[in-house]
Amino acid sequence: MAQTKDYYEILGIQKDATEEEIKKAFRQQARKYHPDNKETGNEETFKEINQAYEILSDPQKRSIYDQYGTAGLKSAFGESVFDFGFRDLSEIFSEFFGATHRSHRSTGPERGRDIRYDLEIEFLEAINGCSKQITITPLEDCETCKGTGAKPGSKLKNCRSCNGLGEIRMVSDSFFGQVTQISACPSCSGSGKIVEQPCTDCNGKAQRRVKRNVDVKVPCGVDDGARLRWGGKGEAGKKGGPPGDLYVVINVKEHDLFKREGLNIIIEQKISFSHAALGGNIKVPTTEGEKPLALPSGVQSGSVLKMPGLGAPKLNNAARRGDQLVYITIETPSKLTAEERKIFEQLAKIQQEKGDKKFGIF
Ligand SMILES: [Zn+2]
Ligand SMILES: [Zn+2]
Repeated sequence: MAQTKDYYEILGIQKDATEEEIKKAFRQQARKYHPDNKETGNEETFKEINQAYEILSDPQKRSIYDQYGTAGLKSAFGESVFDFGFRDLSEIFSEFFGATHRSHRSTGPERGRDIRYDLEIEFLEAINGCSKQITITPLEDCETCKGTGAKPGSKLKNCRSCNGLGEIRMVSDSFFGQVTQISACPSCSGSGKIVEQPCTDCNGKAQRRVKRNVDVKVPCGVDDGARLRWGGKGEAGKKGGPPGDLYVVINVKEHDLFKREGLNIIIEQKISFSHAALGGNIKVPTTEGEKPLALPSGVQSGSVLKMPGLGAPKLNNAARRGDQLVYITIETPSKLTAEERKIFEQLAKIQQEKGDKKFGIF
């Protein structure tokens, strides 16, 4: 296939073109047919152009090609003279559109990572506040190697991946410019040095996971989903960077009786038919134990009675509290004793005599 190609024709130049003319022609053609060019890009043509340029820009190859054609090139350099990997293209390209881009990745001190811990607590613990001990496993500097990653007594040597430069260069093609990416060397994290013998306790990672118990004081009034922060209690930083923070996310368990809406505590209270009619004092559960509640006579189902100051406290301020709101449900008795039945029958008779049409009584 390559044998039939006329490299001068491909680049659109004369047989006696100068080096400068070859470069210029290649640049024009490459821009036109580069695969990144959405209008005229063509990968096949682009490869051909690169092949032509690779041969004609090399005086030795050009001379052999001029005298013996592609067959001569093949016998002089082997079939591989026609292979052009992307890396080769990149090198060619960088001659023209050379640009260097340094990635912003820092190689200096790194802040430690934050730790999130989900803590489930009881409803009353959230209202009153509580103390909990939690166990976290953050990364901390290895004690054996003092956070260096090197086996005690062993030395540092130049990183082989980057020859001690601490950075790696990568060239990539882009139609509008050749970009050389410089990023921190992953082998040495940008330091340029690696340890001769890694610390055996941390496998050279300089940090280890350690179990740590932390006493967490949960303030009163904390609500479901609240996020408490302990600065500096997260993972240790790297290369002298500051530690991260510890976040404890509160998950409040549901309570059988109490529900919370902002600073108010909601409770449903069933009352008897007769209490509803007559009114009087009943005992109602609160987060501080049972408390009396005065029922007005004639209270209706669905009425909401307020018990001031018995709601949830403001966060970390036990003195300022919301209210408890009592939703009244009147329960119609379903099982009657003989005595109750007698009394209800009397009541029904009286109501029948009153003939209240609202109840369908005539
Ligand atoms: Zn170590
Ligand atoms: Zn390196």
